[in-house]
Amino acid sequence: MAATKTKSSKKSNGQAVLMASPEGLSKGSTGNDVKPLQEYLTRFGYLAPPPSKDDGKGLDELELRSTTKPGEFDEATEEALRLFQQMAGLEVTGELDAPTREKMLAPRCGNPDITPLTNTNIASMVDPDIAGFVATGGRWPTNALRYALQETGLDLPAASVRQAIHQAFSTWAGWTGVSFREVPMANGPDIIIRFVAGDHGDGNPFDGASGILAHAFFPPVPPNTPIPIQGDTHFDEAETWTITVPPGAGQFDLTTVAIHEFGHALGLNHSPVVGSVMEAFYGGPRRVLHGDDIAGITSIYGGYSIAEASWVHGTAITVELPTRMESVRRFGFFTRLIGKPNTTNWFHFALPTPVIVSNDRKVIGPCMLRFQTGGTNAVVRDVHIYDGEVRVAAHDGVNLSGIQPFRRFGVAHAPEVLWGAGISIGVTYGGGTAASRTIDMISAGCDFQP
Ligand code: ZN
Ligand code: CA
Repeated sequence: MAATKTKSSKKSNGQAVLMASPEGLSKGSTGNDVKPLQEYLTRFGYLAPPPSKDDGKGLDELELRSTTKPGEFDEATEEALRLFQQMAGLEVTGELDAPTREKMLAPRCGNPDITPLTNTNIASMVDPDIAGFVATGGRWPTNALRYALQETGLDLPAASVRQAIHQAFSTWAGWTGVSFREVPMANGPDIIIRFVAGDHGDGNPFDGASGILAHAFFPPVPPNTPIPIQGDTHFDEAETWTITVPPGAGQFDLTTVAIHEFGHALGLNHSPVVGSVMEAFYGGPRRVLHGDDIAGITSIYGGYSIAEASWVHGTAITVELPTRMESVRRFGFFTRLIGKPNTTNWFHFALPTPVIVSNDRKVIGPCMLRFQTGGTNAVVRDVHIYDGEVRVAAHDGVNLSGIQPFRRFGVAHAPEVLWGAGISIGVTYGGGTAASRTIDMISAGCDFQP
């Protein structure tokens, strides 16, 4: 940890004023309380900025209007507020009621939800009338992306930050043929990752602790070639970042926010689908993709090619610490694993591995699991992918329970397979009945790419 750590704990001004706004602010309201509301709506793309500052970008297409009089809750403000409520999954009242104000105070991504009328740097043009994921129209001209960390932040050891970043890229790599390799800054990476505070020179200043947590720049819209800032992802250094699940009070999960921001860096905008990774608001650790995110990313990049796929039955599992198990029984082709109360353990699958096929060495990943648990007293906490003794990806803190017919875990940097694929599964058992402490491990597999 750096000894010179300095953190500002100041709240952004806009937030403080929004907090003070009287409940039920609605059309016809005037005064200083209306301004922060309009600023928020403008900042996140729901309301056009006043005409004097307007660059005209996309206004006609989106039919977004500006307020005629800042500080006056006019029709344009109400329309914008309704759109925000719709996007945020709130009751559409057109009033700044308590749930709406609470949502506006919630920590969130700095990228605009609709279109960045105040910010041409994070520009995208999307239809505000949307039901699911939003593709910006941008995408990388290559499937082999390179990233670098310009800073690793002050909160965590550099190795922990690198793990969070690698896990976040691996999460997206589980569904597409896009790979992500870390390179030195000097190598001209496609995606530069930064930890910066306040004004950091890109026209999108951060706001102190909480509020905006991070932002990322969309890839170019073909046939345009990438410009340097595109894909770059910035985390607010004023936040206290963690990779521990659950995070401590006032801390934010770096892995979760990184998965979200890399969604932007790949070309997705905010989704109104509750529970999706691409939701604008931070809702605690969320380290696996939602169906909406998967539909979004594959709509841009498609799936990946599979040269070989290898699966084993759940009966092939080995238990690292048998003394912590209450019972381990084979039922036909699956294994029922009941842990002793309040224990952790590791289970392992060794997978038959086609290292070389037709004289061609294959690339490892993604790996897959099919299982079900008796409830939240039996949790698949971490999933690690190995090639021989080398761990090639760690999906930590995914915390999966219940019926899991098909979970996929990617490997960000697409390494060639050398020795043999393995999946290690970290599990946590809570208290409760034996039935609730049950994991039925059904199948495990790995895809090998050309
Ligand atoms: Zn975002
Ligand atoms: Ca912030």
